[in-house]
Amino acid sequence: MSTYLRGIRTPHRKGTKKKPVLRMDVPATVTIPMSMHIGKPATPIVKVGDLVRVGTKIGEADGYISSPVFSSVSGKVVKLIEHRLITGAATTAVVIESDGEMAVDESIAPPVVNSKEDLVAAIKASGIVGLGGAGFPTFVKLDVDPARIDYLIINGAECEPYVTSDTVTMLTRADDMLYALRALRRHLGIQNVIVGVENNNRQGADAMAALGQMMDDLSIKVHSLPAIYPQGGEKVLIYHTTGRKVMNNQLPIDQGCVVLNCTTLAAIGAYLQTGMPLVEKCVSVDGGAVRLPRNVIAPIGASFQDLFDFCGGLTTEPAKMIYGGPMMGITVPDATAPILKNTNAILALTKKEARLPKTTACIRCGACVNTCPFGLEPATIAAAYDKKDIDALKDLQVLSCMECGCCSFVCPANRPLVQMNKLSKQLIRDEARKEGGNK
Ligand code: SF4
Ligand code: SF4
Repeated sequence: MSTYLRGIRTPHRKGTKKKPVLRMDVPATVTIPMSMHIGKPATPIVKVGDLVRVGTKIGEADGYISSPVFSSVSGKVVKLIEHRLITGAATTAVVIESDGEMAVDESIAPPVVNSKEDLVAAIKASGIVGLGGAGFPTFVKLDVDPARIDYLIINGAECEPYVTSDTVTMLTRADDMLYALRALRRHLGIQNVIVGVENNNRQGADAMAALGQMMDDLSIKVHSLPAIYPQGGEKVLIYHTTGRKVMNNQLPIDQGCVVLNCTTLAAIGAYLQTGMPLVEKCVSVDGGAVRLPRNVIAPIGASFQDLFDFCGGLTTEPAKMIYGGPMMGITVPDATAPILKNTNAILALTKKEARLPKTTACIRCGACVNTCPFGLEPATIAAAYDKKDIDALKDLQVLSCMECGCCSFVCPANRPLVQMNKLSKQLIRDEARKEGGNK
């Protein structure tokens, strides 16, 4: 059995499933970080006192792997602050006081796209990044020789508990996805599209199949994925849908594949039609402490608290608040944390939901190894991390860990294996940086 077929069955707890999608009230202020993507942070191009509108550029991309940033409200820039990212790194954030008008920037107009170069430039200008959580600037994936693309794979797998915002996209944004697919077909010569949807998401699969019937010049196949976690990991999805394996140090395009999350695809379509850059996001607001779990369309930069308030407030003091789902999500220290471009969910978990059992010694049962989709050895990695043995960590290929958390989930000793993997990766990166600095 390929290791890619491994995974775990998690409780779904999708409290926002079948709930209507609502647009939240305009928040009083938004805090918009310059780094909401993989790559170099954008450079702020506004100063305190500047008036901005919805779609006004406030941060310029810095270099190739970077992304511009836009105001999500109309109002006045009141502060530029140092903002601590969830990775611990610091970036600048622009704080904008909203005037409540949501007036649109006069420059907003659909881009003129007549070629592949135009399309890539437009997607770069839109500020769109991977909206499934990764935050990688989307234009980079499409800035390739079209002859290398055998498959465009649309990621509709939503295997994380609680999260339903991608399903909402599949059910409600067919027009935007269709528009994007037509542009990708025309300018990148995309012939084959495969949509990966889990076999327990019938509605999503039906919606995507209906989309396929609307495209007569493009083959769109809906691939039913097993309802096990993690199906949304890029390499896992490519293997399940095409049988191709992306090896270590390879990119999906090396196996003829480009993977886009379904919400990213919809965002491309919306931008090409309107010219409005990425300024808002559909977010699943859930967890036992949320009074009215909902999918909410929120301006980027609104706070957790703004979204909780829109969902009827909290019923109890949350034991934990998380960006994303409970498997791969990141805990935030308080409810002032802003919604980012790639935020697909925010959770407020009760003490019972967030309870972490006591860690005990490894009993060498091998469950973590047997569950890892990449065939890694988490227990051995943890031992190498304890010794800070960087050579061993590299040999154990910890850098290919996708941080899915399956190993921690199955460990009977409740060892924080995924956290050790993250720290191990950081150790290797720090070492590489030091070596680079010494040259
Ligand atoms: S977190 Fe990493 S090591 Fe653990 S199961 Fe996932 S990919 Fe494997
Ligand atoms: S699952 Fe836990 S107890 Fe079992 S080998 Fe892995 S780390 Fe040890």
